[in-house]
Amino acid sequence: MARIIATALRICKQNFPKRFSSENLPKRPDQYRIATLLCADTIAAVGVTVTILGSGSAGNCTLIETETTALLIDVGLSGRQINDRLAQLGRHLTDLDAIVLTHEHGDHTRALPVLCKQHRLPVYANRLTAEAITDELQSELLIAWHLFTSGTPFSIGDLVIEPFPVPHDACDPVNFLIRHQSHAIGILTDLGHVTRLVVERVRAANLLILEANHDVRLLQNDTARPWSIKQRILSRHGHLSNEAAASLAGEIAGEHLHHVFLAHLSRDCNRPELATRAVGEQLYRRGARHIRLTVATQDAPTTPVTLGT
Ligand SMILES: [Zn+2]
Ligand SMILES: [Zn+2]
Repeated sequence: MARIIATALRICKQNFPKRFSSENLPKRPDQYRIATLLCADTIAAVGVTVTILGSGSAGNCTLIETETTALLIDVGLSGRQINDRLAQLGRHLTDLDAIVLTHEHGDHTRALPVLCKQHRLPVYANRLTAEAITDELQSELLIAWHLFTSGTPFSIGDLVIEPFPVPHDACDPVNFLIRHQSHAIGILTDLGHVTRLVVERVRAANLLILEANHDVRLLQNDTARPWSIKQRILSRHGHLSNEAAASLAGEIAGEHLHHVFLAHLSRDCNRPELATRAVGEQLYRRGARHIRLTVATQDAPTTPVTLGT
């Protein structure tokens, strides 16, 4: 028994140093019993939490947190919006360990100069993306680049990030499967079509952030957009329609998938109810009625969702 308690305490101390500093470690048997309960509580409460700070064609940013690690996937809102929305969650830029980028488009990188001036965070991207951003900035701003290679997993704290290539009109765009212990989060936005590789990479996800960019009919009937822009969005290197998102969600829906966030909705060429209906009907047809479906919005953070409790 004593050995089990000692092992539990060691694991807690290693993994959750904020809660289990050496001063907090118990010294008497009764304290050990209390600590064991606390360990059980802590282990039960530990997980990985996902909050989309904002998503849509005008900007994308997602916060992923564990007990020991916090990072932003893309920073396409304004610096002020990101700071404000972190504050709403009781977080600050200095609580973060890194920024991780999918590609160089402004709706994923807009706040990078402001945030990097404010706090020198490591910024993870692949080489071509980092070069495209550096060329675009044309400033003396020194970004603390950490380069990864598409297809090669890397770790930030207790998160393992698996980047994989997606078809999109950027230099070397990627999406991610992010693993924490036995849980996996799929991030799938900004891709013109779903490749077999994409399906296989996100198949393990327990939570999926999935692009449902446009309703094809609304996009085709939109008089404000020139034909060339419509063609770009609809192309095999553009963005996923509601129907394409529904088809992918249906393909990977299974017992393991608990939550789907619909993301990167076009303000003009989509409606939350159209995206929800398209994907919801597909999940219903597949008998996957346990999956929660939430639409992420441009203007406010989503309710945080924790895997592992
Ligand atoms: Zn893009
Ligand atoms: Zn985008």
